[in-house]
Amino acid sequence: MTTAQTTTSPPATSVVAHWVDGGPFAGTSTRSGEVFDPATGEVARRVAHASAEDVDAAVASARAAFPAWRDTSLARRTQVLFAFRELLAARREELAAVLTAEHGKVLSDALGEVSRGLEVVEFACGIPHLLKGATSENVSTGVDVSSVHQPLGPVAIISPFNFPAMVPMWFFPIAIAAGNTVVLKPSEKDPSASLWMAERLAEAGLPAGVFNVVQGERTAVDALLTHPDIRAVSFVGSTPVARHVYETATAHGKRVQALGGAKNHMVVLPDADLDLAADAAVNAGYGSAGERCMAVSALVVVEPVADELVARIAERSRALRVGDGRRGCDMGPLITRAHRDRVAGYVDAGREAGAEVVLDGRGVEADGGADGFWLGPTLLDRVTPAMSVYTDEIFGPVLSVLRVGSYEEAVDLINANPYGNGTAIFTADGGAARRFAGDVEVGMVGINVPIPVPVGYHSFGGWKSSLFGDSHAYGPDGVHFFTRTKAITTRWPAPSHGGINLGFPQHT
Ligand code: NAD
Repeated sequence: MTTAQTTTSPPATSVVAHWVDGGPFAGTSTRSGEVFDPATGEVARRVAHASAEDVDAAVASARAAFPAWRDTSLARRTQVLFAFRELLAARREELAAVLTAEHGKVLSDALGEVSRGLEVVEFACGIPHLLKGATSENVSTGVDVSSVHQPLGPVAIISPFNFPAMVPMWFFPIAIAAGNTVVLKPSEKDPSASLWMAERLAEAGLPAGVFNVVQGERTAVDALLTHPDIRAVSFVGSTPVARHVYETATAHGKRVQALGGAKNHMVVLPDADLDLAADAAVNAGYGSAGERCMAVSALVVVEPVADELVARIAERSRALRVGDGRRGCDMGPLITRAHRDRVAGYVDAGREAGAEVVLDGRGVEADGGADGFWLGPTLLDRVTPAMSVYTDEIFGPVLSVLRVGSYEEAVDLINANPYGNGTAIFTADGGAARRFAGDVEVGMVGINVPIPVPVGYHSFGGWKSSLFGDSHAYGPDGVHFFTRTKAITTRWPAPSHGGINLGFPQHT
């Protein structure tokens, strides 16, 4: 993905700071980057780019706060989470406005993002139940064994630009509830939501140092991945960076879950309700301008219904209003000019490779600033697996239609793809749907559901190059990731017991 320009000159506009030890922290770095309003194309503010020393300060704060937070009662930790939940629910529109201003997604979509993050906060409010261990009484005469789940220590969360509130909330509510302390490194492209959440956590009564934020880019990430006091890393972003994060942080002895990029296929069988499928393809292909890791980007249509389905998708897409997310539009701008231009480049790349350009989003008339990062819905038909529009993760409002002759061909295509984040099938045949759920090598499957993001009490994660590590995000996997198990074997002998026995412990 593209990066905003980094400079060492003094900032002219306000600078989004770090958050360390319970308050804003300017840091020592003189480097900063631009943060745009994507609907106007203007630089709205700047963001500090942390140095390794700034990261040290944040980790030191998390480390110092850990012993007291680990020992804080479950009752008290839960109260903080409930208070945060209330603040988030009451002020969700405020956070949504922060998201729209820097990311560009339309306000209704930004509200949806907040709701999906809230879901994980609510799950984490149940931490007393989730942390219950297990006890076996009298495993040997007079001996009991219990397994308890304890926190890890300071953990790092590194998040992408496309969900600046939800993705951090996939991790920090559970990490904190389980007794860890956190250093969040949000995307440098839309950094303000992280501070909004830090302020609300402080208001909710979270002690200083339990939640810290370092702003910045690669320098900050690499300092976290190699820091001796960071115990675990939760990362979400593109696959090359996820691989780098996984390899570097595991080589430094950390527990890592690194969620990567995606190419999500939606299969439409000939018996599907084509109106339902067309609605779903438009919503999942163009929602949030296609900048979702669960966006549908490859529509795999089993003939003979492709002509009809493409016509219905094109008709719906032409009616979409593209523009400033604050003006009630359907679809907002892309995140940066460079990213917009890169995505727009796929229209020609597709055409030159032999695809049919049904809709070209480059000429869209947007209801927004003349210099906004606009690209309208783009629909490419007769795409083949060798074309770059199929092999690359485009991460924009470009939907590619691949026409296949059979269910088997559709599944082979999906399973040959290096990514395995989400997929969906549209059909009226329960047997076919059930078979699909079993056959596809993908972590999340929707049956007549185009964006199958699991609820907060199930876990989210892809397979293959969409996730490195063995824990998915949030839900039961999240609790598992942010705790380690200790088995305690106990004997309180009666006064007459004891004696010498050098043999290996056996059960009597
Ligand atoms: P990105 O990989 O460019 O950046 C993600 C994070 O890594 C950011 O915090 C960024 O500052 C940092 N980073 C970027 N380059 C780095 C480098 N070379 N070394 C170290 N750190 C680096 O991703 P993005 O453009 O912000 O987000 C879009 C990507 O995220 C897409 O590929 C999308 O599929 C993926 N994503 C995946 C999921 C998922 O659940 N699998 C969810 C959301 C987004």
